[in-house]
Amino acid sequence: MSDTSSEPIKGIQYCIRCCVPETQEGVQFDEMGICTACRSSEEKMHIDWTVREKQLRKIFEEAKASSGNNYDCVLPISGGKDSFFQAHVLVNVYGLKPLAVTFNQNWVSETGFYNLQRCLEVFNLDHLQFTPSRGLVNRVARKSLDAIGDACWHCHAGIGAFPLQVATRFKIPLLIWGESTAESSGKAAFSCPQKFDRDYFTKVSAKLTAQEMIDDKLSAKDLYPFELPSYKEIENTGVWGIHLGDYMFWDDERQTEWIRDVYGWRETEMEGAFKGYKSAECIMSGVHDFTCYQKRGFGRSTWQASVDVRNGLLTRKEGFELICKHDQERPDALDYYLKITGMSEAEFYDIMREKKLKVLKDIDLPYHPKAKPNAEQLFPFVEQIIQKHLNQPDPRITRDQKEDIL
Ligand SMILES: [Zn+2]
Repeated sequence: MSDTSSEPIKGIQYCIRCCVPETQEGVQFDEMGICTACRSSEEKMHIDWTVREKQLRKIFEEAKASSGNNYDCVLPISGGKDSFFQAHVLVNVYGLKPLAVTFNQNWVSETGFYNLQRCLEVFNLDHLQFTPSRGLVNRVARKSLDAIGDACWHCHAGIGAFPLQVATRFKIPLLIWGESTAESSGKAAFSCPQKFDRDYFTKVSAKLTAQEMIDDKLSAKDLYPFELPSYKEIENTGVWGIHLGDYMFWDDERQTEWIRDVYGWRETEMEGAFKGYKSAECIMSGVHDFTCYQKRGFGRSTWQASVDVRNGLLTRKEGFELICKHDQERPDALDYYLKITGMSEAEFYDIMREKKLKVLKDIDLPYHPKAKPNAEQLFPFVEQIIQKHLNQPDPRITRDQKEDIL
């Protein structure tokens, strides 16, 4: 029997090996009480990765052979650690010519802005980016909390829609994603990878389609950027996608250190987490994970601790200590979320209370303020630049020129 005394929430089941609770979406425990992700990580050690690599090579050779003068694949990137690793594998290992695409959630941090630009420069990538307007992002963020229980519908839906729109419009059938769904989510197994299809992101994160988000404040025209191409368009281009993590041994920690040292990728302080590399491009990540805590009783540090426990880097007890410290922290970015949505803090907690899973209904979920302010400014970097320039005279315009203009 595992020691239950350090488990953060009493009365719910945790994996006996790691820190995953029963409230994680899609999780299953076997008769021993071991979770799907722990079983997947054992499976990962027994996979013949050389065979998988041959399959990957074949996929890439076929893509190159059929692309002609067009791009070989679509590479969706955010500038995060996986983006660098994916770009490295495609460009520097297999010699593909990808078209990089970014759905910009318009919440990009300074570190995130640097990382994306660095990625484009260092891998010499052609790039397309889509950025929804500030006003639209703010309105959708307000609706999102009530609709799906987190603030980020526009990001989940945009990350799904934009690469597919590019794939169909530019007639580039192959999309290359990074980490396998089997890696830590427990939603799939390495032996049977979750197939990427048109509705993948609606199923795993967005939950609602653009059509389902329409109301009296959000029209179909507002939400058009989030529309997925039709099944017919997908079929005509033959769009399909793979996760590199299903074809090569994925090691988050080692890859992160490596892209940092070799390519200059940077991590930052992340709210609600004890590692600085996941979703480092987004200022709102702490709010996303805090809503998960409000609904399901765990946040980002539960994922991170569970991976480290599986890899023998932490004991289960140490994992739970880190979880209590970070998952239960009220993120500073919540202030920005309340400001852009006009929501009061009481309203925020009211909505989250309604979203709480049944099994947690009678359980009080404690949270505490942050011990010190966040190192990264939790305000979109583009707005920081605009404010900075508005607040200082333009040094490039001389007094004489100013008089001319006036
Ligand atoms: Zn587990």
